[in-house]
Amino acid sequence: METILVLAHVEADGTLGRPAREAIAAARAVREGLAGSSLVVGLAGAGAGAAAPQTASCGAARWLAVEGPEFGEPRYATDAAAAQALAEAASAGLVIAASTSRWARTLAGVAQRLGGRVDTHVTGVAAAQGKVAVSRWFYRQRMEAEIERAQRPWFILVDPGCFQPWAGEPGPVAVERVAASGSSRTRFVEYREPVSGEQTIRPDAELLFVAGAGWTKKQPDGKTHTEQAGALILDFLRKSRASLGSSKSLVDLGSEGHAVLPFLTHMNQVGQTGSTPRHPKGLATCCHGEEPHVVGWRFVNERRAVNLDPNCGWAQGKADVLYVADAFTVMAKVDELLG
Ligand SMILES: Cc1cc2nc3c(=O)[nH]c(=O)nc-3n(C[C@H](O)[C@H](O)[C@H](O)COP(=O)(O)OP(=O)(O)OC[C@H]3O[C@@H](n4cnc5c(N)ncnc54)[C@H](O)[C@@H]3O)c2cc1C
Repeated sequence: METILVLAHVEADGTLGRPAREAIAAARAVREGLAGSSLVVGLAGAGAGAAAPQTASCGAARWLAVEGPEFGEPRYATDAAAAQALAEAASAGLVIAASTSRWARTLAGVAQRLGGRVDTHVTGVAAAQGKVAVSRWFYRQRMEAEIERAQRPWFILVDPGCFQPWAGEPGPVAVERVAASGSSRTRFVEYREPVSGEQTIRPDAELLFVAGAGWTKKQPDGKTHTEQAGALILDFLRKSRASLGSSKSLVDLGSEGHAVLPFLTHMNQVGQTGSTPRHPKGLATCCHGEEPHVVGWRFVNERRAVNLDPNCGWAQGKADVLYVADAFTVMAKVDELLG
């Protein structure tokens, strides 16, 4: 009989975040597919026990909590100690957690301590006929693999955005407190966010809007229009609530001292050496659509692009629709239509 532990951090406000609820959904899917398996919820955080009732109807048989102010702070030593203590207390064969920055940096080490194995960036789980398989992409989302493992405990880090977050009624639960070492030489100071004038990365947005280097290039009048480009893009983002992605060329220009869009950082870069965001739709503008960029669009389902060049990469089967047009004109009209 497999015991499945779903690990979650409790947020500072006492709630469970969306990634944690997605991990619960993944753990429930495994439990449903594995006859005789049981689900255990393991929570870590300042008020972990108090958060347990939020998961009352998730189908768990036990609720474990490592709590104390030191477990509310992100720190390798205390996060690893909490995960290890919870996995041991549950006698877990499978440990499923969201790939948050805290679990992603900790669970490989915990798997090593417990003689287990870990798989990261898991995008799907399947359980049937006594077997569990997870799927994961390799080589920057070019190949998908399905993995089974006999070794236990098996730690599975699921990528946020791949599962419908679990939601259920709260209720009373019996919480078992688990002791873990809270001592560490590492002191948590504060959270720092990358400095960018405006928040442009919105992982939950319906649309990914990508700006390419063309926005800063000389236009048919022989001049650059970077300020106008910035205004058009920001106006569109404010009205559409789209998330802003960029090509590498455009963000690199900034670090090379050229005039670029001031609200872009490398955090916006999509592609082989950037991010692989998940949005239902994508619109690329002034971006050529080369493979190292488009590989970051793996999880964007409906793709459109605006480019002056009818032979750009998007025309080579990389977009559903290519508008051969001037993005300055198109986006000015779109902004106008959006009011
Ligand atoms: C190892 C490696 C890793 C890489 N990783 C990444 C990565 O993670 N992400 C990434 O993006 N790139 C990556 N690249 C770089 C990638 O190959 C391209 O160089 C880059 O994506 C090009 O950016 P771009 O399309 O914005 O610029 P450009 O190639 O300069 O294209 C600009 C486009 O704008 C169009 N344009 C100009 N004016 C207008 C207008 N008014 N209206 C409409 N269209 C207009 C032009 O026709 C042109 O197609 C990587 C490359 C390598 C070798």
